[in-house]
Amino acid sequence: SFKAIMVSRDDEKNQSVSVETLTVDDLMEGDVVVSVEATTVNYKDGLAITGKSPVVRRWPMIPGIDLAGTVESSSHPRWKAGDKVILNGWGTGETHYGAYAAKSRVNGDWLIGLPEGMSAHDAMAVGTAGYTAMLSILALERHGINPDRGPVVVTGASGGVGSVAVSILGNLGYFVIASTGRTHDQNFLKGLGAAEIIDRAELSEPGKPLGKERWAAGIDSVGSHTLANVLAQTHYGGAVAACGLAQGFDLPATVMPFILRGVSLLGIDSVMAPVALREEAWARIASDLDSSKLGSLATSIGFDDLIETAHGILEGKVRGRVVVDMMA
Ligand code: NAP
Repeated sequence: SFKAIMVSRDDEKNQSVSVETLTVDDLMEGDVVVSVEATTVNYKDGLAITGKSPVVRRWPMIPGIDLAGTVESSSHPRWKAGDKVILNGWGTGETHYGAYAAKSRVNGDWLIGLPEGMSAHDAMAVGTAGYTAMLSILALERHGINPDRGPVVVTGASGGVGSVAVSILGNLGYFVIASTGRTHDQNFLKGLGAAEIIDRAELSEPGKPLGKERWAAGIDSVGSHTLANVLAQTHYGGAVAACGLAQGFDLPATVMPFILRGVSLLGIDSVMAPVALREEAWARIASDLDSSKLGSLATSIGFDDLIETAHGILEGKVRGRVVVDMMA
């Protein structure tokens, strides 16, 4: 038997969270059983555990959208016992029992191999947040963005998506402008690779349809007025990857940046992204994210700290990424 975090609902739809003792037979259908070595706490996991947003769509549920571990048993043709794997999204922690348990039984089609030279801990220091940052960078590159085109703004820069985006972009040679509410903590973002830090308050209030052209591209995990202002200040022909909603899911923008400056808005989804794109993203993470940066952007916790940390991420108390060491 092993421990799992379970969220449940009563008849009045009041949500509660508990630690349960389960066996593999209690897990949901799947052709691969993974021994979970590490997981993480994303913003979405915070939403699932607190019930603040309807992330969980089947009750009860084991939350946790990301895991890294070792295949224990498999009837899937691609995987055998002992393989090191990563799982990001695909509805785990939402509709399929997720990562917050020592074992997980999943569909083998959802797994990808842990890149050579990367530990389970490192993979979870990246997690869905970091893999989404990489998907955003790939989308900008497909649009023709490169360091010679000009600066890139990253919003929510101290968060999970933001801190990994700053690290990778910095390593690739971009002039990174980091937008953050934590302007007192400049050393953190400068250490990761930010060239300039701006106060997120500059972008979070209603702004003009078009502003001074400040950056060639953006990676936005914040949404709402912030995304509208990022678009309004993007260079002619630039692009912005939209991947989050930390400020809000609204987009109070105008079409002016699109029709007068040819700016593009690129949508980023990590949950249902096809396997080939995931493998490309993880290979690029392995090559383009300076592994020494991972140590400074990630904090390690144990399984017993998980629930409290999930509340903390929604309260803005978590900086960078969190790794949950399940073996600790
Ligand atoms: P996180 O670690 O909590 O980071 C979010 C950051 O946004 C915070 O650290 C903060 O950065 C900033 N922020 C928070 N509230 C804000 C507000 N009211 N106004 C302006 N900025 C605010 O979360 P995460 O795991 O990185 O996820 C970030 C977002 O991306 C979430 O909305 C998440 O759902 C989304 N996401 C989407 C995908 C996808 O597939 N599209 C995948 C992963 C995540 P500062 O402290 O630096 O200001």
